[in-house]
Order: sequence, then structure tokens, then C-alpha cells
Amino acid sequence: MSRYEPPVTNPREPISLAIRDVSKWYPIRDPATGAIGRLDVLASITQEVARGRFVSVIGPSGCGKSTLLEIVAGLREPSGGEITVLGQRVTGPHPLLAVVFQEDSTLPWRTVLENVELGLEVRGVPRPQRRATSEQIVDLVGLAGFERAYPSELSGGMRQRVAIARALALEPEVLLMDEPFGALDQQTRIYIGSELLEIWERTRKTVLFITHDMGEAVFLSDEVWVMTHRPGRIKAVVPIDLPRPRDADMLTSPRFHELTAQLWSELAPEAKLALSSNASEL
Ligand code: ADP
Repeated sequence: MSRYEPPVTNPREPISLAIRDVSKWYPIRDPATGAIGRLDVLASITQEVARGRFVSVIGPSGCGKSTLLEIVAGLREPSGGEITVLGQRVTGPHPLLAVVFQEDSTLPWRTVLENVELGLEVRGVPRPQRRATSEQIVDLVGLAGFERAYPSELSGGMRQRVAIARALALEPEVLLMDEPFGALDQQTRIYIGSELLEIWERTRKTVLFITHDMGEAVFLSDEVWVMTHRPGRIKAVVPIDLPRPRDADMLTSPRFHELTAQLWSELAPEAKLALSSNASEL
């Protein structure tokens, strides 16, 4: 089996992902009066991600993190603004983008290899080619030997690796991850986070990673965007200068704690606002 080679990067296109003036509102019905109003969820978000960067987005619950990711993925239309990937406008699901969701998205009746092949199958890639690509990616994510196993025979962490492999098999420019380890216990989360970093070191994909976990954001990222309470804006971009490659021992380092504290100082007032507003909506 040949080794997986990440696609060659083009230095003339250093910006992978651009988010320009993106806003989103949803129509909502006032339960008391029946009048239709609007809920402003995202307000004029403009950010760029350079090729190969690992960026996390953190913010209080309900601030629009998932909405932002779905808009970037082309799964939801923004109310205003635009998304481009390598300069190409995103108007729907785009071949340069792949998404890994929080919930276990493996299909229980398909083997690991068949699960990894799924996206390529949907794209109409011929069987021998999709099998060869999937075998390489299964190896890359450390699941060699489990090709013929079914999801029920795997741990939750391994199933998420299958979901990551399925996304990587599409050879995306940008990997979009929406709380992919949210359903896992904390220890598993730390280890699968380290594994994700190993995979990322090998592929150097651009990653946009949604999380509500500050430690996870610091451990994984090159920079963290902190969002405000709804309507979500980016209130701070915190560069993470922990050296790479990283391992779980860094979680006890003084710099890790300083960076986590810095994130919390930005996030705490927003979390408080979100709590009081959610309470008043109950
Ligand atoms: P987060 O991921 O930060 O928790 P979301 O993006 O899931 O936030 O949601 C942001 C806000 O938008 C929430 O208040 C949510 O209730 C609201 N929302 C999400 N989808 C819809 C929809 N289809 N219609 C109306 N409101 C929505």
C-alpha cells in the first residue's frame, strides 16, 4: 500500500478560507402576539484563515457557532456576506470542503472501509480508486487492521476517527469540525485530540474547529476566535504559541494555563450574558 501524500500546496494562494461580512438572522414568531420578528444570530463576521492553519472557534452556547460552520460549509445560506475557499465562492456543498459533525455519523451496517468510502461513492469515484484512497486514509488515521470491522465493534473515539477519515478521503482544502468530540468523555477527548493533531501534522489541512471547551481549543489550535453572545461577532483572536508537535503533557504547562486564562477572560462576560438571556427566555 502506498503512503498517503497530502496534496501539494500552492504558495500563491495563501488564504484558504475567507469569511466576508457574514450575517445571519432567522425569522421567529413571538408566542404571545404571533407577530413575526427576527433573531439576529451572526453579525458582520469577517475573518481569513491561511492555508494549513488550525483555527478554533469558541463562544457561549447559542452564540451562533454551529450556524457559522454550516454557512461556511455551504449547508445554510447567510443573510448577508459571502464565503470563499481558495477564492471560489461557496454557494452550497463544495468539493473543497468536508465536514465532521458531533454525532456519530458512521453507518452501522457498513464496515470501516465502506464507511470511509461513502463520500467518494456519493461523488461517483470508481470503486478501485475509492478503495485505494480509503485504504491509505484508514492507515493514516491509525485504523489499519480494522478495515473490515463494523462500527459496533469500535470505541466512540475510533468511530470519530472513521468520520475524520471519511472527510479526509474527499481531499478537502478545509476540514470543518463541529464539536466532533463533544459526545466523548474527557480522557478520550484528550487522547483523540492528540491523535487528531498527529493526523493534522501529516496532512496539514486547514481546519476550522468549533468547540465550547477552552482547553481543547488551546491544545489544538494555532489561533482561537472568541465569539460574543448573540448576535455572534468575533470579539478576539487569541494566537496560541505553544510549540508543535504537541502532546497531552502540555496540558499541565504554565503557558497552557496562561492561554486558557486569557480565553476565559474574553469568554466569561459573554457566557454570563448568554446565561442571563437564556434564563429570561425560559
Ligand atoms: P451555538 O452552536 O453557538 O450553540 P447555534 O448556531 O446552534 O449556536 O444557534 C444560534 C442561535 O440560533 C440559537 O439561539 C438557536 O436557537 C437559533 N437557531 C438555530 N437554528 C435556527 C432556526 N433554523 N430557526 C430559528 N432559530 C435558530
